[in-house]
Amino acid sequence: MIKFKGVKKVYPGGIVALHDVDLEIKKGEFVFVLGHSGAGKSTFLKLILHEETATEGVVTVNGYNLSKIKQKDIPYMRRGLGVVFQDFRLIPTMTAYENVAFAMRVTNIPEREIKKRVPYVLNLVGLAHKAKSFPPELSGGEQQRVALARALVHSPPIIIADEPTGNIDPELSVEIMELLKAINSVGTTVVVVTHEHDLAQRFNKRMINIENGTVVADSNAGAEVNGYDI
Ligand code: ADP
Repeated sequence: MIKFKGVKKVYPGGIVALHDVDLEIKKGEFVFVLGHSGAGKSTFLKLILHEETATEGVVTVNGYNLSKIKQKDIPYMRRGLGVVFQDFRLIPTMTAYENVAFAMRVTNIPEREIKKRVPYVLNLVGLAHKAKSFPPELSGGEQQRVALARALVHSPPIIIADEPTGNIDPELSVEIMELLKAINSVGTTVVVVTHEHDLAQRFNKRMINIENGTVVADSNAGAEVNGYDI
C-alpha cells in the first residue's frame, strides 16, 4: 500500500529531513508514525501525499511510483488516500453535509449517489444529527469527525490522520482513536502521524519511530491485519 525504499529528502538549503527510510505499510494495518517535533513526520506525510518528492529512493502509494507518476494519474492516486488534517480544513460557510458532499461533487459523482453516501458516512462517524450545522457551530471533536467523514467518502483503502489529537480535548482523543480503530477493523489501512507517544502506547499497534530523519524503531507489536473492505 505504502512503500519507502532508500528514501532521502533534502530541502533547499541542504537540510536533510529524511534519510535511509525503508518501510512497508500493508493492507489492513493500523500504524502509528511517531516522532518529536522536527523529526521528519510532516516530510514523511508530504512524500506520501506527493506534496514533496523524494530526493533519492522510491515512494510507492497504492501501486503508483511517486517519482514517476504522470500528472493525469495524480488525482486517482490522491483519491486512494483519505486524509484528516490537523486543522480539519473544513469550509466554514458550508454545512457538515455540504462539506462532505463537496468532496464528491468535485469528482463529478451523480447527485443521487451523493444523497445516499453523505448521510451514510456522517452516520458512520456519529454525526448524522449535525448534518445541517456549520463548522463554527460544532465542537473541535465534531469538526474532526466531519473531516473524517469527508476523508471516508470515496472509500479510500488508506486513511491518514495527521496529529489527530492536536486540536481537540484529551478525552476526545481516545474517542477519535476508537473511531479510527473501527474503520480499520473493516479493512481500511490507517496511518496515524503523531508526537504523542503516550496515546500510541495505549493501543497495541505497530509503532514506527522517526528520530532525526530516520526510522529508529519499528515495532510490529500486536499488529493484526484486517482484510475486509467497506
Ligand atoms: P516534524 O513534522 O516531525 O516536526 P518536519 O518533517 O516538519 O518534522 O521537519 C523535518 C526537518 O526538515 C526539520 O529540521 C525542519 O526544519 C526541516 N524542514 C521541514 N520543511 C522544510 C522546508 N520546506 N524547507 C526547509 N527545511 C524544512
